[in-house]
Amino acid sequence: MTKYETIIGLEVHVELATKSKIFCGCTTEFGGDPNTHCCPICLGLPGSLPVVNQQAIEYAIKAGLALNCSIANYSKFDRKNYFYPDLTKAYQISQYDQPLCLAGHMDYELDGQTYSVRINRIHVEEEAGKSVHSGDNILGSEFSQMDYNRAGIPLIEIVTEPDIRMPAQAKAFLEQLKANLEYIKVSDCKMEQGSLRCDANISLRPVGSTEFGTKVEIKNLNSFRAIERALEYEEQRQAEVYDQGGTIYQETRTWDEKLGVTVTMRTKEEADDYRYFPEPDLPPLIVEQSWIDEIKATLPELPLARKNRFIEQYKLSDYEASLLTATQELADFFEAAYQSFPNAKELSNWLTGEFARLLNASNLTIPEIPVQPGDLAELLSIVKDGKISGNQGREVLGMMFDSGKKPAQIIKEQGFEQISDTKELEGVIDQILSTYPDEVKRYQAGEDRLLGFFVGQVMKETKGKANPGLVNQIIRNKLLADQ
Ligand code: ADP
Ligand code: ZN
Ligand code: MG
Repeated sequence: MTKYETIIGLEVHVELATKSKIFCGCTTEFGGDPNTHCCPICLGLPGSLPVVNQQAIEYAIKAGLALNCSIANYSKFDRKNYFYPDLTKAYQISQYDQPLCLAGHMDYELDGQTYSVRINRIHVEEEAGKSVHSGDNILGSEFSQMDYNRAGIPLIEIVTEPDIRMPAQAKAFLEQLKANLEYIKVSDCKMEQGSLRCDANISLRPVGSTEFGTKVEIKNLNSFRAIERALEYEEQRQAEVYDQGGTIYQETRTWDEKLGVTVTMRTKEEADDYRYFPEPDLPPLIVEQSWIDEIKATLPELPLARKNRFIEQYKLSDYEASLLTATQELADFFEAAYQSFPNAKELSNWLTGEFARLLNASNLTIPEIPVQPGDLAELLSIVKDGKISGNQGREVLGMMFDSGKKPAQIIKEQGFEQISDTKELEGVIDQILSTYPDEVKRYQAGEDRLLGFFVGQVMKETKGKANPGLVNQIIRNKLLADQ
């Protein structure tokens, strides 16, 4: 695509990880029998009044700070009016002209380059309920049923400026955003459960033009891959329309995952259509600066900064550092283990190799496994000292995952410990050499390859536990000294 420049801006909805909903005490737990996590408030029954959940505001501020936004000391809630069965009140409580967070930015990397995307705003709102269609999708269904368990779960909507220029960048931006939000623990960011959802806006303009073209909004993007594919499709479609002298109309399209195409859903509604007005049942949201400062102080080092520090401090490659900082738990595990085993390369190899494999196979997260950072450090020290081999080390790690036992105990129980005690080995070696006097003579006469035979006999006698390097050395010393 050399004729057109692609312009992309994203609107990302993130469910906040509060225990209760934003305006009532109902649980936010995923699933549950339909309409069991509801009360008069989140069902919007007459006479019920909302009360804002402080934890939701704290998480929203935290997200805003992590994305370098300024936090408004004064913001307010508004009613966004529309009728749809998933919205019992026929309005959604949202924020319109005075959102909580404004004017931030977030950096991300793609193919070794760093990019920055400006964040226009982050506003707080409530989730709607869910329509459950009888068919595969709404078009083919005979009826739909409503589940309001989700209604009233706190949401933030993060709106970017149109700073993204390629579908691959949109995907990389979202992956970084997800990692950031996971690090600050404001959301579980499960795309498959809908707790992180993205609408993508895309337009083309002739290369060199400074004005934006007409944008199209794409909905129903349920995975990183879908986002990239849908944007690639739409980029192509719009280019073809322009090539043929056609016009792009502002509209909302939906991504059809099966067919791999975007389809017109509706022409774009304007803000006026929603008849926004200030929510009369909630007071303005006044946020004290001291509270913002308190929240700021709890922000952890974010993944990109941490990755770059890992490269600097531990002399790791970009790739290794990315793997290790992919989750906060793994990065913390690395740094804790490093305290007792300060060999970053070796530690990184184990963590991203056998450890990652076992973790993956166990279907557990790091906080759920019985292996502590100090245990891994201990195991690696034992391997490094040559007390057990690398292969045995991997076996021991597997047993540590299964049983939670300490490496030393497992090694003892399994009889893995290598014999590196010179005295003990000399005893065995003397016995072998006296059993094979002819072979000893032949070796001493220059038949070098018999060394392997002696070492083999010692290994057999010790059931493989002898330290082979040491055995070699002792035998050579003995036979050459005897000459
Ligand atoms: P609307 O008024 O239609 O809601 P906004 O200006 O609020 O549009 O932008 C909504 C989203 O669309 C933002 O993420 C923004 O970055 C993106 N956007 C705006 N204009 C364009 C454009 N011409 N091409 C691509 N994305 C755009
Ligand atoms: Zn409720
Ligand atoms: Mg808008």
